[in-house]
Amino acid sequence: MFALKRELKLNKVEASLMRGCAGFKRFVYNFGLELLTSSWSFEDVKASDNKRIDAIKQVLTGMMDEPEYQWMRKYPSTVYQSAFIDLKDAFSRWRKGLSGFPNKKSKKKGDSFTVYRTSGIYPVKGQPAKAFTNRVVIEAGRRIKLPGLATFRLKEKINFMCSSQTFTVSRTADKWFVSFMLDAEKVPPVVHPIEIGAIDLGVKCLATVSDGTSYEMPISTKLAKTKLGRMQWHNRNQVKGNRKLGIRQSNNASKSLLEVSRLHARIANIRSDVIHKMTTDISKRIYRIRIEDLNVRGMVANHKLAEAVSNNCFYEIRRQLTYKQPIYGTKLEIVDRWYPSSKTCAKCGHIQHMPLSVRVFDCEACYWVEDRDLNAATNLVNAPEHLVRLA
Ligand SMILES: [Zn+2]
Repeated sequence: MFALKRELKLNKVEASLMRGCAGFKRFVYNFGLELLTSSWSFEDVKASDNKRIDAIKQVLTGMMDEPEYQWMRKYPSTVYQSAFIDLKDAFSRWRKGLSGFPNKKSKKKGDSFTVYRTSGIYPVKGQPAKAFTNRVVIEAGRRIKLPGLATFRLKEKINFMCSSQTFTVSRTADKWFVSFMLDAEKVPPVVHPIEIGAIDLGVKCLATVSDGTSYEMPISTKLAKTKLGRMQWHNRNQVKGNRKLGIRQSNNASKSLLEVSRLHARIANIRSDVIHKMTTDISKRIYRIRIEDLNVRGMVANHKLAEAVSNNCFYEIRRQLTYKQPIYGTKLEIVDRWYPSSKTCAKCGHIQHMPLSVRVFDCEACYWVEDRDLNAATNLVNAPEHLVRLA
């Protein structure tokens, strides 16, 4: 399984339809969230979250006939259905301790909603008909038909004919995207030129690989960040809206907020692009990939390190390497966090003190000299097996 995500090319009418759908989803989700939490105060009612949510759904469906809720009928019913599915998910994840208490959806955090096909069967010879129920065929090209909505243009074409079940439309700053899952395997199995390699995730450099290659964050993120800081300072006195106090956001504030969110999105895009390319590149080259199990919590306590850690997205790199395992046929191995990879000499095994500011490993025992991060990566490759576990 892999996901496709494409930017939509919308005109004003289409964009406002998307905003409407997202607003509908937000309304339904928040309505359900509020009723569910307040229903807990009736102690004589004993029912699971799911049962309660189903009951709330019936209440809201009934309300749709009232004139003030007629507007809901303009939007696809699957937006409505999927808002309740999301709500159930959010509560079951919270009950299991996998995430925090579900928050109300807010417009500021971006828009999103899901649509899917509710009927239609595509019988295929030799296949059970049921397996093909509800799938939407997506033609190759620059157009996509979203079930319950219409056909929209795409900024980048889809290269092959495929099919999917559910489509999620989302907005980041003023751009709209559609994403959907495909079942097919896109990438054929890869023969890796390197059997085993390790990555040292650094502070100065994004990552150093044991074969000597290294990856860096482009300078443009730094420039964009400086610009962001300047923009926020310039706009510090603008009238920000506050619904509770009845203050309307000034026109200039809305303009600059859009600009700020665009810049945030741009920084995030550059980062994500660099990291995706890096993890894909590594996954194609190396079969057994070793990384250090970083004690991020301990590092964040060190203030200087904190920004570098969050900037270089240690978790994101590990997450991507993990999910790319089945796609590229790799094995991700985690080396124990107490293994002194940066303090050990990769040649003779001598252990010496290495403050963070020292960028070159200069062995006191055998006088071997090597780049700090490359030395650490080499040590990770040679780490004793009992300190290594599969991710
Ligand atoms: Zn040495």
